[in-house]
Amino acid sequence: MNVYDSARMTDVLAPLGYAPVAHPGAADLVILNTCHIREKAAEKVYSELGRLRELRDARARGDGPAMTIAVAGCVAQAEGQEMLRRAPQVDLVFGPQTYHRLPELIARVERARAGDGSGAGKGGAAANRSGSGVMDTDFPVESKFDHLPETSAQHGPSVFLSIQEGCDKFCTFCVVPYTRGAEFSRPAGEVIAEAERLVAAGAREITLLGQNVNAYHGAPPDGEATWGLGRLLRRLAEIEGLARLRYTTSHPRDMDDELIAAHGDLDRLMPYLHLPVQSGSDKILAAMNRRHNADDYRRVVERLRRARPDIALSSDFIVGFPGETDLDFAETLRLVTDIGYAQAYSFKYSARPGTPAGTLEAQVPEAVKAERLASLQSLLDAQQEGVNQDSVGKVMPVLLERPGRRSGQLVGRSPHMQAVHLDAPAHLMGQIAKVRIVAAGPNSLSGRLAAEPAGSILPMATEMEARP
Ligand code: SAH
Ligand code: SF4
Repeated sequence: MNVYDSARMTDVLAPLGYAPVAHPGAADLVILNTCHIREKAAEKVYSELGRLRELRDARARGDGPAMTIAVAGCVAQAEGQEMLRRAPQVDLVFGPQTYHRLPELIARVERARAGDGSGAGKGGAAANRSGSGVMDTDFPVESKFDHLPETSAQHGPSVFLSIQEGCDKFCTFCVVPYTRGAEFSRPAGEVIAEAERLVAAGAREITLLGQNVNAYHGAPPDGEATWGLGRLLRRLAEIEGLARLRYTTSHPRDMDDELIAAHGDLDRLMPYLHLPVQSGSDKILAAMNRRHNADDYRRVVERLRRARPDIALSSDFIVGFPGETDLDFAETLRLVTDIGYAQAYSFKYSARPGTPAGTLEAQVPEAVKAERLASLQSLLDAQQEGVNQDSVGKVMPVLLERPGRRSGQLVGRSPHMQAVHLDAPAHLMGQIAKVRIVAAGPNSLSGRLAAEPAGSILPMATEMEARP
């Protein structure tokens, strides 16, 4: 989502003459777009700000224009005031819901720098100056999406599209409901229009984004009833030229019948789903306020596999949530063994300020967390490697997305999200090619074009005839 937001910031700034540069030292404006989900991510911001201060000072010694340093995203939202105090090199702090106001905020920084002092407290209601920096961590009533330009800085065959933001679920470990705010769905008509523009600009694959993307309930283009994600996917799958659809991140409670049916009916909806479960212990799931148990999750997966037998699953896990015992952790390993994941992300529990779990007594010692993480990851790695090994010898449709490290090499994605490296001419970029998988590593596959290049390009309607 931050990748998408950063591209949108680029879109907002383009009319002002800003364009991306290769190195921050050459930039008039540097924006750090930050993540607050775990402590490690948040702390990174301050070390990055230290490096930027040196670049800014080096620049100030030359004759060039001053460098403006801005911090965006969820760390800005959560720690704005504190950040301006702790890192005085920061000129501007703004949250994830106010980046459409960037032109106005930058003008305010410039006025403040010019020394007329009128930067303070003008414009947006919650915008204010603290110390010497400008801050806007408002949750505006009007959606930023109503103010973003129609242009898109996203390049390449595979792009993101935000359709839903924020969260009302309040899992006890999570900062998202506080930093991104209440759940909000963009109207379906707006999403369709943005998807059509992205496809016209060359996108072949769109990944729909949301913190709780399957809680989507957007205003309909016509009629009364809101659209769920299943309905939206059906409509998007009709866009000519769009070959692949994906969505992330889903909550198990929001996998409704219509969405599960879409997985069975829509060839363009890729057979891969990121469905975080966090833990396999019912006691821990309850303490996390996930509002489902491990068997509910197993049943959702069963229904998905009935609708789409070749669907590959991925998940997020937290180890060492307060109160997690060896027995609870064993339940997580059991769930992983039962389900079988093609990919997964796993994290040590990180106590976050302002969240209910952060102050629980029964925090798990760091060493125990580390041990559990290592054993979970070795199980997940083995599953991932097994899935990759099973791909060897198969022919699969691969969307060729970018140049590889070696010249003459392209990298693409299988329907199951595996990265596939192969030798192929550059002009095939953006095409879906039939690729025979010849070798598998832990994190990627190697393949060969399965036919002569010209014959290997699948018209997208027939892509899934090659369904693995
Ligand atoms: N909305 C998604 C998750 C968004 S956050 C869902 O409900 O599943 C992305 C992932 O970060 C989570 O799935 C979780 O595994 C991890 N995460 C969130 N807060 C965390 C914390 N305090 N400590 C460790 N991991 C955390
Ligand atoms: Fe965080 Fe996801 Fe839970 Fe919402 S549903 S509180 S985003 S983990």
